[in-house]
Amino acid sequence: MSGFLTNLAYIAAAVLFIFGIKMLGSAGTARRGNLLSAVGMLLAVVVTFLEAGLGQAWIWIGLAIGAAIGAVWARVVKMTAMPELVALFNGFGGLASALVAWAEYQSGFVSGGLAATGDYPVFRAGVISIATWIGALTFTGSGIAFGKLSGRLSGKPQALAQQKKVMLLLFGGGILAAVLFLFLRDQAFGYLLFLVVLAAGLTVGVLGTRPIGGGDMPVVIALLNSLSGLAAAGAGFAIENNVLIVAGCLVGCSGLILTVIMCKAMNRKLVAVLFGGFGGTPDGPAVEVDGEMKASNPGDAYYVLEAAHSVAFVPGYGMAVAQAQHVVKELADLLEARGSEVFFAIHPVAGRMPGHMNVLLAEADVPYEQLLEMEAANQRLPTVDVAIVIGANDVVNPAAAEDASSPIYGMPIVEARQARTIYALKRGQGAGFSGLPNQLYFLPQTSMLYGDAKETLSALVKEFQS
Ligand code: NDP
Repeated sequence: MSGFLTNLAYIAAAVLFIFGIKMLGSAGTARRGNLLSAVGMLLAVVVTFLEAGLGQAWIWIGLAIGAAIGAVWARVVKMTAMPELVALFNGFGGLASALVAWAEYQSGFVSGGLAATGDYPVFRAGVISIATWIGALTFTGSGIAFGKLSGRLSGKPQALAQQKKVMLLLFGGGILAAVLFLFLRDQAFGYLLFLVVLAAGLTVGVLGTRPIGGGDMPVVIALLNSLSGLAAAGAGFAIENNVLIVAGCLVGCSGLILTVIMCKAMNRKLVAVLFGGFGGTPDGPAVEVDGEMKASNPGDAYYVLEAAHSVAFVPGYGMAVAQAQHVVKELADLLEARGSEVFFAIHPVAGRMPGHMNVLLAEADVPYEQLLEMEAANQRLPTVDVAIVIGANDVVNPAAAEDASSPIYGMPIVEARQARTIYALKRGQGAGFSGLPNQLYFLPQTSMLYGDAKETLSALVKEFQS
């Protein structure tokens, strides 16, 4: 395939990526956007194959194994485990870029004789070390993020006693090794320096992610996603592959934008996320809550709901666990049919990944106009008769607004507490993701509907139908 045709196909792939990403911006077009980007990726892979020649047995084997694992995994993964899967994808993306850079160093520089003569371009050596360093840290950092999100590792911040000094040493050492690698053209020493860059990257990933608490993991995953893109772009420069450069830059930039959006949603500064240690089990004195939690039942709740003119649903992680989205929609329809105004108040970090609630509710065919973003929902909540909090905890915790000593202080919340009556659906007294108690459940206007959210909602639906 001629270079001209290859580049033309790469441009077409890049255009498909860009339009695909644009379409992800709205729930209505997101599926088609995803498909468009996937077609772009398929085009890029096929063209790269044709250019490299089809006789590459190792690539076929890798492709078959990777595609099989990906296809099975995507089918069996639970919605609640999606963020962990994204963390793993980021990590493997970083690893792939680091390995491509290493292979390029080995084949182009060492076996190709450039390292022996010392006659290689600084730029190429530079992008090799950048892709290696960022790819390696993305790999191990994502591994730790995966462990924390899946509960295999503690979500508590875990810093070394001399964390900052060790990190400075690793950063400084890695950068020094990379600079020496660029300019000292001694083959044996060069390889050693390359390995130091790789090892520093791997270690920074582990030590940099361990001190970040579980509650900040969404931001970290978005950042690691961005870094995996940068590593891919570096690898693209190293092997002079245009579509890899473009795709890497797109992932790098969109990941960075998402990181900023997530930080804003949680009212956190990126520096505080990376060096602050929020989100684990708090070490300070436990936040006190007053009052008692009043248990109610679907039968009593029915009478209140039947008389309500406006009802707000506030979904959270528990709705995802219970897979209660379809029965919520059923209840919402019944309420609407009786003349109630119904809307869903969506917190940007409700659940375990950005857009988690939107995806679930869209799956249940809840109309988009009923999904209100947090700010819009908060304006309406003070006039709402009943707020039904479905497995949401941290995102409705008043401590975020009222208690300056709380680790989640400053995080914007859905103001469910402003509603006239509140029903909170959860299984028991369990805390939310941050491990903090929640005053909302103790308010005089709040009643608890204990049990699995799907079962409780089904019982409410039955009350309406009987
Ligand atoms: P939380 O994790 O704070 O609370 C979920 C609640 O759901 C728990 O209190 C639990 O109580 C209840 N629950 C669990 N299973 C069920 C069930 N089957 N039926 C009914 N209730 C159930 O969720 P939120 O959505 O309020 O908050 C999200 C948190 O996760 C935030 O702290 C956020 O920072 C963090 N996070 C967000 C990510 C994102 O990108 N969106 C990613 C990673 C973390 P009980 O055990 O008593 O039932």
